[in-house]
Amino acid sequence: MKRPGKAARLLREAKESEDEEEKERLGKEARSFIMSRIRGKDTSPELLVRSWVREAGYRYRLNDRRFPGSPDIYVPRLRLAIFVNGCFWHLHGCASTKVPVGASSYWLMKLERNKERDAWNYRRLEDMGVHVLVVWECEIRTKSRREKARDSFLQDLRRMDTLASRKQNDVI
Ligand code: ZN
Repeated sequence: MKRPGKAARLLREAKESEDEEEKERLGKEARSFIMSRIRGKDTSPELLVRSWVREAGYRYRLNDRRFPGSPDIYVPRLRLAIFVNGCFWHLHGCASTKVPVGASSYWLMKLERNKERDAWNYRRLEDMGVHVLVVWECEIRTKSRREKARDSFLQDLRRMDTLASRKQNDVI
């Protein structure tokens, strides 16, 4: 399991919920999330994005806690933090966000808070001079979207590489 923190957080939220119905639903949500992580291990979006970074020839670190939001992937050479976000959990606002009709305000508030925390983390990273790239799950769901996302991702990396080289030359 790559992100035990997330599963643990879900379970804790389920445990802390005061509403019995909510509690049960959150618990179910957490379990199915964990199962999907286990089942989808080899095809997970993070693995795909990692393969892009590797392909481009960069070394990277995973979930580096020294940076705000513990980026899924951090590329030291480019000072780049990459987040691979699930559309639902991070409230992307696309069709895949699918917040269930009649969802409680408690639940919506949780998701809204996730989104605010993301924005706050990205700002702090940028203040530190770290680039931020977000890859959304909906962008890599189908083969054609995946190819498009990969192209623009690699293009972004090349652009940052040029910037990084220029900065190094300035120092020298
Ligand atoms: Zn999305």
